[in-house]
Amino acid sequence: MRYQKHELLSFIGKKQKFLEEKTVAIIGLGATGSTSANLLARAGINLILIDRDVIELDNLQRQTIFDELDIGHPKVIIAKEKLSKINSKIKIEAYLLDLNYSNIDILLKANLILDCTDNMETRFLINDFSIFNEIPWIYAAVLGSNAMSMNIVPNKTPCFRCIFKEQESLTENCDSVGVLNTITNLISSIQSTEAIKILTNQDFNKEIFIFNIWNLQMQKLVVKKNLDCKTCFKNNFEYLEGKKYTGILKLCGQNSFQIIGKPLNLKNLHKRLSKSTDAKINKYCIYSDKFTAFSDGRVLIKANSVNKAKSIYSKFITN
Ligand SMILES: [Zn+2]
Repeated sequence: MRYQKHELLSFIGKKQKFLEEKTVAIIGLGATGSTSANLLARAGINLILIDRDVIELDNLQRQTIFDELDIGHPKVIIAKEKLSKINSKIKIEAYLLDLNYSNIDILLKANLILDCTDNMETRFLINDFSIFNEIPWIYAAVLGSNAMSMNIVPNKTPCFRCIFKEQESLTENCDSVGVLNTITNLISSIQSTEAIKILTNQDFNKEIFIFNIWNLQMQKLVVKKNLDCKTCFKNNFEYLEGKKYTGILKLCGQNSFQIIGKPLNLKNLHKRLSKSTDAKINKYCIYSDKFTAFSDGRVLIKANSVNKAKSIYSKFITN
C-alpha cells in the first residue's frame, strides 16, 4: 500500500520491489543531500548517510529536513532520526565523519553513491572509488540559482575526471555567491529520479544536465570519454590511495576550515573551555561561535584564512 502510487506507474510498477532491495550512500547532508535522502527514504530505498557537520541557523533556509531545535546537533544523527520516522521499514546507517581515503570502504555495500558534497577533492575521491569498485555515482552541484548534474556509471559513461580537471575546482563557492533555496530541491529531484532509473536497470541520462531555475534555462551537454583520462584509462587512483590527502580543508559556508588532529576527550576539553568561552557540549561535539570539535579529532573552525584557523585551533584546542 505504501508504494501504491509508484506501482501504478508504467515505468516503475513491479520494479518498485527492486528499490526496496537496494542501498544508496549519500555523501553530505546539506541542502541537496537531505532532500535526496528524504525522497529516497520515502521510495523505500535503504540508506548509508555520511556527513561531518552540525546544523547551524543559516542552514534552515534550504536544508529541508532540519528545524530550529536541531541547531548544534550533527546532521547525520538528526537525519537518521527523522528519516526513520518517515519510513521505519528501511535500513539506515549513519556515519558522523569526514569521508576520506582511509574510511571510504564503508561505501562498498552501496549499489549507488550520491554526491551531495560541496568540494572537488571529495568528488575526485568518490570517482576513484566508483571506477575502481564499479559502483555508479551521481554528481550534483549548486551555485546561486544554477545546478548541474551528471551520472557516472562505470563502463557505460565517461568518468568525472574525463570531464573535470583538478585546477578547475570552483573558486567561486557558496561563501561569496549564495544559494537560492528552490534550486537545491530541483537538483535533488533530478538526482533522485536518475537514481531510481539506475537502480531499476533502466535507461538513464548520459549527458551533463545544467539548469538555471531563475531564468528557467536548461542545457544538456554531450560528454565523451577522454582517452587520456588518468582514472578510467590509466588506472591511476591517487585520491583513493591517499596521495592527494592534505588533512586541512576549506569548507563551503561562512569561511570555515576543517583541521584533523588527535582524538579529543570532549568532557575535559569542555571543562577547560567553559572558563573562558560560551562553548556548549552535547553527546557528539563541543560547539561555539568559533569552532565545533568532535571526539575523533576533527575541528571545524570559522576563520577567513588558513593561518587564522590554525591560530584558533592552537588557542582553544591544543592549548
Ligand atoms: Zn575517465
